[in-house]
Amino acid sequence: MKKLSILSILIAIVLFIGCATKKQPVDLVLKNANIYTENEKNPKAEAVAIKDGKIVFVGTDKEIEKYIGEKTKVTDLGGKTVLPSFIDSHTHPGLVAMTSGNAELAKYSIPGTSIEDTYAYLRKIAKENPNLPYLMIGTWSNPLFGVKGPDRKILDEIFPNTVVILLDSSGHSYWLNTAAFKAFGIDENTPDLKEGLSFFVKDKNGRKTGWVKEFALMPYLANMPQPAPEQLAPAIEGYLNSLAKNGVSTVMDAGNFNAEETIFKAVQMLEKEGKLPVRYEATHHLYMPSQLKDAVNKVLEYRKLYGSKLLTFNTIKIHFDGVNEINTSAVLEDFANEPGNKGGMLYNEEELKNLMLESAKHNINVHLHTVGDRSTRTALNAMEQAQKEYGKKLPVQLTLSHLETVHPDDMPRFKQLGVHANFTPHWFGGTVFHGSKEALGEHRFAHNQPVGAVLKAGANVTFSSDVVSKPQEYRANPFLGIEMGATRQDPALGKNTPIFGQKSDRVSIKNMVKGYTINNAKQLAMQNEIGSIEVGKSADFVVIPSDIFTMDVYEISKIKPTAVYFEGKKQELK
Ligand SMILES: [Zn+2]
Repeated sequence: MKKLSILSILIAIVLFIGCATKKQPVDLVLKNANIYTENEKNPKAEAVAIKDGKIVFVGTDKEIEKYIGEKTKVTDLGGKTVLPSFIDSHTHPGLVAMTSGNAELAKYSIPGTSIEDTYAYLRKIAKENPNLPYLMIGTWSNPLFGVKGPDRKILDEIFPNTVVILLDSSGHSYWLNTAAFKAFGIDENTPDLKEGLSFFVKDKNGRKTGWVKEFALMPYLANMPQPAPEQLAPAIEGYLNSLAKNGVSTVMDAGNFNAEETIFKAVQMLEKEGKLPVRYEATHHLYMPSQLKDAVNKVLEYRKLYGSKLLTFNTIKIHFDGVNEINTSAVLEDFANEPGNKGGMLYNEEELKNLMLESAKHNINVHLHTVGDRSTRTALNAMEQAQKEYGKKLPVQLTLSHLETVHPDDMPRFKQLGVHANFTPHWFGGTVFHGSKEALGEHRFAHNQPVGAVLKAGANVTFSSDVVSKPQEYRANPFLGIEMGATRQDPALGKNTPIFGQKSDRVSIKNMVKGYTINNAKQLAMQNEIGSIEVGKSADFVVIPSDIFTMDVYEISKIKPTAVYFEGKKQELK
């Protein structure tokens, strides 16, 4: 008996030593690579081992040997650079699909040269299509029409019978004729959706001019027929594939207005068919005051109906204010071109605070569209009050997105309150916000999107594409974002083009990559699963031919990944 037990102890020791030196063989090993892990404790590595889609070891080529078994696939990357896959934490696959299905939008293109050219173009459409029942196209240039905006009188002249809805260049307002008013049942008594934000513009006599700002039209458009999920699925897949090819493994869908359920069904369909190339965090989108009371329940309902491994529901998205271009963003000081107007917000501080306290009970995060400095301050105040009431740090990730103007006093509050600051770097080139200069005035415009200052104040800064249409699809490329964040110049305009805004708002490549990886994972409360190359996390990598941290900054937007791994598998993308 005694002999046997000594023997078994010996065997156990031998086995134990064996285990310590010869590890369980893994599925995949990537080696001879220049790996930036985005894990501060172990920032650089040469090799990584993957089993069951998860990272099990990160280290040197020598150390990785013991993970290689007979069935392990070993890939020698020949010194190529590996980064954790990117996260696009505010984009709109659903809107891309909805707009790419609209052939009318692609068929017409209203010139932005002058008011007269605009009218002439519309007259031409009317002449060529005398019996058109319905016309919804874009986009007319709102800077041309100033703060008063366009009027339906001229549209009625050109289109007396056709129902006309013309989308503006900011994407945040419509120009309607009287036939459209009649079709929707809108008259002079129709109330506004939200003062200063979503409303019918009136002339000095109180007559509705036909210019409709933000979401005032949404309740009416909700009754219009929608495409079926199966019609939208291919366009969603196409957009997600283009993101995945550029190294994106996780997206947050930042809202689909009244089409959200159709989009969720389409994404669910893609996952079931094995065609979903990314993790998809879906959001419930609030843009009308009436949606507030049911918001949390709606997320819980979506979780139950559509939630799965790759399709998750942990976020409420709120269109908290509007945009500078049409004076609907909430600003601390009056718009430069419209004294007396400070824009508007969908909810007040108290309402937002209560929503966050309710969200905290169900692990729901809150993501806000905040363009103006007043909406940003209100949201920070709401978080401060919510934490006071809760008595400790609220388990809600609050993200403020866009942040075109941030008051310097509010910058340190992001860090203090643990609020994420989300920016869209491909807008840092100066071509997107021309229309907002008049509204903001020189000084505020000169500090547009102050990412460097917010970063310096200690915020967790994150990046995303916010792409909403098919023609913009190429702008969602994170490599374009990284280059533009670092240069504040658009590669399309060349490297001698003036820097957009402040030179001090240029961001280092290090912080750009962080903002697309680990910082974004924190924003989504997924930092234990994704965002860095670390043991236990999903094996999501992007392999690129050159070292992004040492190469010419002006070449970064041209990077084409040589391989993309999602959950340990090399992606084969159409
Ligand atoms: Zn958006």
